Amino acid sequence: MAAVTGSKIDYQGGRWVVPEHPIIPFIEGDGIGPDIWRASRRVLDAAVAKAFGGKRAIVWKEILAGEKAFKTTGSWLPDDTLAAIREHRVAIKGPLTTPVGGGMRSLNVALRQLLDLYACIRPVRWFAGVPAPVREPQKLDVVIFRENIEDVYAGIEFEAGSEKADKLRDFLMQELDVKTLREGSAIGVKPMSKFGSQRLVAKAIQYAIDHRKPSVTLVHKGNIQKFTEGAFRDWGYQLAKERFSAHTVTEADAGTGKRETGKVLIKDRIADAMFQQVLLRPDEYSVIATSNLNGDYLSDACAAQVGGLGMAPGANVGDGYAVFEATHGTAPKYAGQDKVNPGSVILSGVMMLEEIGWLPAARAIIGGIEGALGAKQVTYDLARQMPGATEVPTSMFADAIIAHLT
Ligand code: NAP
Repeated sequence: MAAVTGSKIDYQGGRWVVPEHPIIPFIEGDGIGPDIWRASRRVLDAAVAKAFGGKRAIVWKEILAGEKAFKTTGSWLPDDTLAAIREHRVAIKGPLTTPVGGGMRSLNVALRQLLDLYACIRPVRWFAGVPAPVREPQKLDVVIFRENIEDVYAGIEFEAGSEKADKLRDFLMQELDVKTLREGSAIGVKPMSKFGSQRLVAKAIQYAIDHRKPSVTLVHKGNIQKFTEGAFRDWGYQLAKERFSAHTVTEADAGTGKRETGKVLIKDRIADAMFQQVLLRPDEYSVIATSNLNGDYLSDACAAQVGGLGMAPGANVGDGYAVFEATHGTAPKYAGQDKVNPGSVILSGVMMLEEIGWLPAARAIIGGIEGALGAKQVTYDLARQMPGATEVPTSMFADAIIAHLT
């Protein structure tokens, strides 16, 4: 049978334009990457085939990064790889080794900058059967939108005792009336713009509307940092009012009885309180929009609550570009053993299918994972905590998911 030739995904008027046979670049990743990618690709292909009866299919295009790229091309991150992602717009990747000693660009940083991937999106939900440290893990089902460019990711900081730090201290004290700033301090700058904050919140609200989610919570530390974190909250509410008033209502307005059914509730929580809330009243939260550092902590805390990072997917998304990825690393001690859990990459693939609008295929995989977990045919990480489970290799876990596709 002749190989299907694919075509490129496009982006017009704020929407993806997806052909029947889109070319999607993939980076298999280092360490356990090849094992989990091989398994994930089979699951994704089987789900698309099942959902669309062969009418649609992904045409995979391998691109290189990490150790494989270094061995083949002498570069950890070839320019061709960045160019291919830019050209094809949607890509998926396994974990990559971070070489010790520096001197190499991080793919994630390079992509964030090149493609302006300003939203880091992490859905966190529990799958029945997965061991979790809380009594009712099923109550947490959130999608966290974390700003990906500003705040601490802007990387503006000056070393303690350096000339620049001292200069900045002098400027702050002499020109800007800062009263207390200890001599020899390291100084970090936390930039948060209205533009950057509002486009992140807009993505979160649009997601909530499209997926019929009940609420969007703005998480911030505005009680302490009024002009950065507090402004994030204010800009978020302002945006909801100005751009999404037909579809949203604020908690303050809803409290006065103005809640209309079907509208997305916009609320805000202070970050430290939010960590308690997701533990104590998780079912009151749905979509979360937050600044960079808050989101970093909150994503991993939520993932741990439902059974850890092994099954947590992620995506970096901008306007017209999206890169989906495993959230764990390369686990080198298990490389090539067909042993580890491919769930994180598979669920990143689910996010990708949802993003490009291939929802039946995404749903088929969720059903498949639930089925495999229900049959207790799972990889070692889950088997060691699930009474009565059968430990299966990566490839057989994929087989079990495929067998249970819905
Ligand atoms: P790691 O690769 O995530 O592995 C830490 C431990 O997590 C493993 O030993 C294993 O635990 C568990 N684990 C990770 N992936 C798993 C999977 N798919 N299934 C089951 N268990 C899994 O973290 P690391 O050892 O700190 O980092 C290794 C390398 O990966 C480093 O070079 C790091 O920089 C890189 N890294 C890359 C990314 C990325 O590309 N996005 C992210 C993080 C780290 P047990 O031993 O308990 O079974």
